[in-house]
Amino acid sequence: MIGSQSGANSGGPAPRALPKIIAIDGPAGAGKTTVAEALAKQLGYLYFDTGILYRTVTLAALRHNLTLDDQAALATLVDEIVIAITAATVNDGRHLTVLLDGEDVTWAIRTPEVNQNVSIVSAQKVVRESLLQRQRAIAAQGGVIMAGRDIGTVVLPNADLKIYLDASPKERAIRRAAEEQARGIQRPFEAVQEEIDQRDELDSHRAVSPLRQAEDAVVVNTDGLPIDQVLAKINAVISEQA
Ligand code: C5P
Repeated sequence: MIGSQSGANSGGPAPRALPKIIAIDGPAGAGKTTVAEALAKQLGYLYFDTGILYRTVTLAALRHNLTLDDQAALATLVDEIVIAITAATVNDGRHLTVLLDGEDVTWAIRTPEVNQNVSIVSAQKVVRESLLQRQRAIAAQGGVIMAGRDIGTVVLPNADLKIYLDASPKERAIRRAAEEQARGIQRPFEAVQEEIDQRDELDSHRAVSPLRQAEDAVVVNTDGLPIDQVLAKINAVISEQA
């Protein structure tokens, strides 16, 4: 189901002192993508954003008019669709290109409609089970930073380094609203805040693999911090652990 992926994996083995597999979890808008991309570039690692998988399954489910908690229908869907993630194929601000059955859905998976429904789909056991082994297979090669909600707790409990990125709901909503505006999506700030709050609630309280900090994760709060300071904190942790 998951085809090729992109990333900065240098192909060679990671130096011994570096964590080979890094898990980054946290709520929407905490800065996972920005931080993981910068860290992946610095280390020459592959960055894999697992949210893309849940978003693409959600888009497919919406397009097929599925009832979003219909386990049987979702099980069939998730096995049938082909998700491919490649290097950016268009110079329009994207970091990657996401294909669903060959169609470019890079921006279609980032609409408010997908945002509003993804937490319902991602709470379904069949969806999570289907995606679990695929995520583990991607990480198995090492030299990977995998970001999501349950990476440190469920997908990669033996990750060499686990970071839990957090920020206040207000700051996360401000960041999301700015991102949306940059992409030409205009909606009231309150709508963005409400959606973030709802996703937090659903992602943190679902029965299967809820968002939570792994016991051995290092918590980094990104409130008011520019990216270089967040990276400095993470690099300090990497140096301490080496
Ligand atoms: O990270 P992003 O905001 O793109 O994730 C979209 C949604 O996908 C999350 O709100 C969550 O419901 C789901 N997700 C998940 N587990 C992951 C990654 C994302 O449940 N590992």
